[in-house]
Amino acid sequence: MADVVVVGSYVQDHIWRLDRFPQPGETRRAAAFHTGPGGKGFNQAVACLRQGVASAFIGALGDDALGAVAQRFAADEQLPCRWQIHAERSTATSGIFVDRDGAPMNVVQLDANEALTPDFVHAQEDLFAGAKLLLLQLENDIAATRAALQAATRHGLLRLMNPAPVRAEFDADLLALCDLITPNETEFAQLLAQIAGVHVEAGSLASCDDAQLHALARRLGALTVVLTLGARGCFVSHADGERRGDTAVCYRLAPERVEAIDATGAGDAFSGALAAAIVRGQGRPFRAAVQHANRVAALSTERAGTAPVMPRYEDVERRFG
Ligand code: ADP
Repeated sequence: MADVVVVGSYVQDHIWRLDRFPQPGETRRAAAFHTGPGGKGFNQAVACLRQGVASAFIGALGDDALGAVAQRFAADEQLPCRWQIHAERSTATSGIFVDRDGAPMNVVQLDANEALTPDFVHAQEDLFAGAKLLLLQLENDIAATRAALQAATRHGLLRLMNPAPVRAEFDADLLALCDLITPNETEFAQLLAQIAGVHVEAGSLASCDDAQLHALARRLGALTVVLTLGARGCFVSHADGERRGDTAVCYRLAPERVEAIDATGAGDAFSGALAAAIVRGQGRPFRAAVQHANRVAALSTERAGTAPVMPRYEDVERRFG
């Protein structure tokens, strides 16, 4: 039985590394190309599993060659998956450019992921019944996402949402079904506008102090917000009376020092590792779980790619002790 159930997207990534992004109409030669399994949901499931926590993935594929790649990778990884296979859809694909600064530029065609149905999610009730935590993102049809949140609520699971990418249908009612969220700065700004009608520039968040970030996070409701800050680490804001074992109601964790070459999937490494560390460290302060996620995410930036290069628990222990 899995402790963590991930309901999410599968995408075959196509990643080009180049010195700088092309201008419209310009052809540039890439320094390297890599293709492999990805998708926010699948990356997070692999990141979680590689932290040594029993995990399972629910997702959708086309009945095609890339779908077969997904199934082979999951089997090799020993990640139990429940796939909804769509004959009329294609397995999702993405194109990712990574420039010299390691910042990714992404295009994604979500295809089969958009056709994951609430009925299929409901049919996996046995997984929810045995699990402790549900991990979600926003790359599936929102009705399937709602079904997953409802099933997790029925079975008393902790509900961790990585709200990426923010979509218009993700409303206050759905957010209220989440216990924890892990937005990056762009997603945090989008959620504030969409849910609370508060308009802030994502770029301006870098100059906010902890009290200002905490006040903004509190506008999203009575849930814990773990704001990822890229190369600046992360920030945690708890609802009053919901400190999850932490002494402070809000705090910041500095970034781990690494040789970052590719930040693609760093947010996925973070959310997957956070889910694992919460389940593994029940009874320990939440801060310890966030610190683990901050380490796994930092390590993930040292290698190009997404799911196949997610760090393992042993890698984190070896590097950070
Ligand atoms: P996303 O990939 O969702 O945009 P972020 O860019 O905020 O997410 O990165 C997620 C996490 O990855 C950060 O909170 C941090 O823990 C880690 N991280 C990202 N870039 C670096 C870096 N250059 N050095 C150290 N840690 C990093």
